[in-house]
Amino acid sequence: MKKLVLALALALSCTHLAMAAPQKAEGIGDGKHGDVKIEVTFDQGKIQSIEVLEESENKMLAKHVFTTMKDNIIKHNSVNVDGIGGATVSSNALKQAVQAAADKAGVKLSTEQTNTQVALDMPQEQTFDVVVIGGGGAGFAAAIEAADMGKSVVLLEKMPSVGGNSVISGGSLNAADNWAERNLGVLDDTPYMHYEDTMVGGDNLSDPALVRVMTDNALDASLWLRDYVDVNYYDDYATQFGGHNRKRAIMPVGHTGVEVIGKMSSFAEKKGVKIITNIKADELIMDKEGRVVGVKASNGGKVYTFNAKNGVIIATGGFGANVEMRKKANSFYDEKFLTTDLPGTTGDGLVMAEKVGAELIGMEHIQTYPLSDPITGAIELIANPFMFGGIIVNNKGDRFVEELDRRDVISLGILKQPGEYAFVVWGDNTEKKGNYEKSYAEEYAAFTKAGIMFKADTLEELAKMAGIDEKGLMDTVKKVNGYAATGKDLDFNHRAGLDALDKGPYFAIKGVPSIHFTMGGIRIDTRARVLDAAGKPIPGLYAAGEVAGGVHGSNRLGGNAYTEIIVYGRIAGREAALSNR
Ligand code: ADP
Repeated sequence: MKKLVLALALALSCTHLAMAAPQKAEGIGDGKHGDVKIEVTFDQGKIQSIEVLEESENKMLAKHVFTTMKDNIIKHNSVNVDGIGGATVSSNALKQAVQAAADKAGVKLSTEQTNTQVALDMPQEQTFDVVVIGGGGAGFAAAIEAADMGKSVVLLEKMPSVGGNSVISGGSLNAADNWAERNLGVLDDTPYMHYEDTMVGGDNLSDPALVRVMTDNALDASLWLRDYVDVNYYDDYATQFGGHNRKRAIMPVGHTGVEVIGKMSSFAEKKGVKIITNIKADELIMDKEGRVVGVKASNGGKVYTFNAKNGVIIATGGFGANVEMRKKANSFYDEKFLTTDLPGTTGDGLVMAEKVGAELIGMEHIQTYPLSDPITGAIELIANPFMFGGIIVNNKGDRFVEELDRRDVISLGILKQPGEYAFVVWGDNTEKKGNYEKSYAEEYAAFTKAGIMFKADTLEELAKMAGIDEKGLMDTVKKVNGYAATGKDLDFNHRAGLDALDKGPYFAIKGVPSIHFTMGGIRIDTRARVLDAAGKPIPGLYAAGEVAGGVHGSNRLGGNAYTEIIVYGRIAGREAALSNR
């Protein structure tokens, strides 16, 4: 009996040994917007679950990182899985965090190659009234409008998530005489003034008719977004972007395109638009009479045909991330430039349109965003104080440009400075206007960690931290404080007035110009119809948004991208729905 008890006890303790309790370990990865912190539960040397404790990644683009990709990591017990296109940094951050947790727990993950490609489960040929290519702001505006006209609509997006560059932008939209402008006491703005600023801002190289339609319909577009699509905008906050003579840009709550695109995509879905991601449009189908009647698209080597009874709308965005296309259009913008754009910004729509006879115009006009992250090329939203009374200086502490000048002027100015970078410097007076440190807390943390963001109680200390010449900065600030008092900037004639830098804390952020927007593109008319070289519309084909040319001339003004995508996206949707009645 004694023997039996002993054997039983031994057997039990062995089982207990073999079934070691699940282990938990934390890991941290470097996300695009700060740390990605997770807790992984391991059991028997395998990942059981991953809990995301902290992350501030783009809610739309990184959605699949924390769902599909996370599930793949668990399923394959490996970080050797495909990342999510358009969210590479977030994907790598999660992998890094899981690996760190595994190292901590002493767990060896699988290193086998995995195949996590998403296969599409649908017929290879389908027919809709309207086919929209591209899931950015222009694509959604077009899709919603066409659906509202009773049409069946499919929207094709090549990336795993919709949104395009529209979702990573600040989401501001210019509309003269908008509610926020009025609430701030600006009562004399008009669509014509917006038109004039846009024309002058693009060196009068835009098509006046296209610009007039955009500025005349801007207020309507803003009300459509706010009151119909239910996008939340601030009531009492408006931005005066460079080149504008009024504070006419409304801003979505949270100051990111996530609010706008998030609402537009769920609205489109509610309206019955079929949204397909991970599918790349490759070619337009033209019938014998020269009408565009569909799109050929692909996923994982499989070809899908989408017939369009009414029309096809190209809304594929620009070509800022396509270095070869950029160099062909303008050799100045070669590989030495980073880009603020998502990797899907490769100009596919331009190639497809040109093949069916569309004319491309203004391709040489490429815009850099003046103050971007020197490491990744991403826009630095926390550098925005340069539009609200802060100053731009070089590393000698000198100003060299009017802070409210056009993006191209500021960018070219920066490229002439030592090291080809600049700093935005501001004090408490400016900080109080937008609470930038708090509003962009993730950027603040990430940029501080990266050594390009600085905060100090005194200007001397700030200069030392940032590597700006101390005496140079002090001399500049002395002058600026004088200009702030008189309201007259004797050096660069700042149009809205500079703030005094006479109270800390002081801030500085380092930035470089990065490719941001391609002004040229498919030639369209005011009905968003695609035109050929003879100026004749190609039946059944429409284009809207960054892929279209003619609206911004040589240089796009801040806040006009959203105005264009909503105004022309809606027009394209309407026109396509009405075509071939
Ligand atoms: P816009 O501001 O003009 O709407 P965005 O950059 O916001 O432009 O959106 C364009 C979208 O089009 C992006 O999401 C991009 O991934 C998508 N896109 C680009 N080329 C293709 C293609 N060949 N097929 C499907 N989608 C595409």
